[in-house]
Amino acid sequence: MPDTIAAIATANAPGGIGIVRVSGPGAFGIAKKIFRPKFGLDWESIRGYRMVYGEVEGIDEAICLLFRGPGSYTGEDVVELQCHGGPLLLRQALQAALDAGARMAGPGEFTRRAVLNGRIGLTQAEAVMRLITAQSEQGLRAARTALGGALSEKIAGVRESLIALAAHIGAWADYPEEDISPLSDREAEDVLKGAEMALRELIEGSKGAQAVLEGVSAALVGRPNAGKSSLLNRLTGYERAIVTAMPGTTRDTVTETVRLGNLTLRLTDTAGIRDTEHPVEKAGVERSVEAMKNADLVLVVADASEGLTREDEGLLGQCDRERTIVVWNKIDLINTPRRYAPPPSIEGGFGYVVETSAVTGEGLDDLARAAEEICQTEGFVPGEAMLATQRQAQCAAGALEAVREALFAMENGFAPDAVSVCLEDAVQALFALTGERAGDAVVEEVFRGFCVGK
Ligand code: GDP
Repeated sequence: MPDTIAAIATANAPGGIGIVRVSGPGAFGIAKKIFRPKFGLDWESIRGYRMVYGEVEGIDEAICLLFRGPGSYTGEDVVELQCHGGPLLLRQALQAALDAGARMAGPGEFTRRAVLNGRIGLTQAEAVMRLITAQSEQGLRAARTALGGALSEKIAGVRESLIALAAHIGAWADYPEEDISPLSDREAEDVLKGAEMALRELIEGSKGAQAVLEGVSAALVGRPNAGKSSLLNRLTGYERAIVTAMPGTTRDTVTETVRLGNLTLRLTDTAGIRDTEHPVEKAGVERSVEAMKNADLVLVVADASEGLTREDEGLLGQCDRERTIVVWNKIDLINTPRRYAPPPSIEGGFGYVVETSAVTGEGLDDLARAAEEICQTEGFVPGEAMLATQRQAQCAAGALEAVREALFAMENGFAPDAVSVCLEDAVQALFALTGERAGDAVVEEVFRGFCVGK
């Protein structure tokens, strides 16, 4: 029998209302101990759900919401105590629940119970997480779609077709005396090709989804004074990094979450990369190189009014061209006739060169478009079933590979057993994707990033 868990379900900050949530077989008993209904209550008679006004004894007046399992969020008996939203007050209310027999919930434990009790699937649990952390309108819409079960439905369709095929092949091979019509190769191949196409389209169509939903890590690098901090400020809309006209002042790294086009960037402004013996700056340079290595996207900022220097060239030499945008900044300083064009050495080697001014804001749309192109989010439509996390994408890729192997086995006249083995692999991968029959490790991974109280 599971134990009873409790946590503060609202944010740890002063607010109008704060909620302590309790779930498990002992939830009602705990509520009975710590909550005194103002007008009395027959606890045993509660079916479905009830809302009761009263007091968390000695702590605060409260509204108590009682949900009788299995019709609750977790599928268990659930109690939510809605108090005033003071962090200290809520901690006291939580402590009262713990003293009355509850155990402190771990991250995501309420949602995990919802999954274990069959209230929602694993992909929906992941969607709950995204609803909470969504930073963009599109991310929110995508999470809602996922919560509706669009992905699970799509995957179930593919999976059922593969199971039916595997069953037919198995029955035909294992029971030759039964009069099972052999599936023609054509029919079997049609099923496999259908599955192949569905998975391929899903994977292709989801490429941008992870970038939009999970965000993209980006590094801002370039010589001191090229305008990195100014650009960061322009994107965040406030003076977070200190901008000065002295070279080499941004020695520490600063990370901000900013919107660029439809992307959420975790943008790290690194110390200016330059050849230096100065120990403090040297540490900064190392951090820059490190940030570049770990980033999905690199913005190399160069000062257009000075033209490309040897240091710039050296830096560009260390960049991975596929995910680098050369930001030709301070374009406002260049008068049209004698405008420095981006040097041919950049244009030849780098696909993405944009001219910007951190001062006027010119060119930031181009920057957004280039970033969207690199992250493949230009055509992202949040209203459809999509693979929203890396975990889901990996499962789908594994299934696709197994389906292709099955097709290869069919087309090359391998024994039915060989086809069956591939089909089994594909089906397993799809089960893991939606969380049915997923191993503990998978479930663990999904809930690790959750906040306590959800
Ligand atoms: P960082 O060292 O690369 O972070 O460069 P900063 O952002 O500190 O900028 C250095 C100087 O260049 C500051 O005086 C900025 O105001 C100026 N600056 C940055 N971007 C631009 C730009 O696009 N146009 C102009 N005119 N000045 C800029």
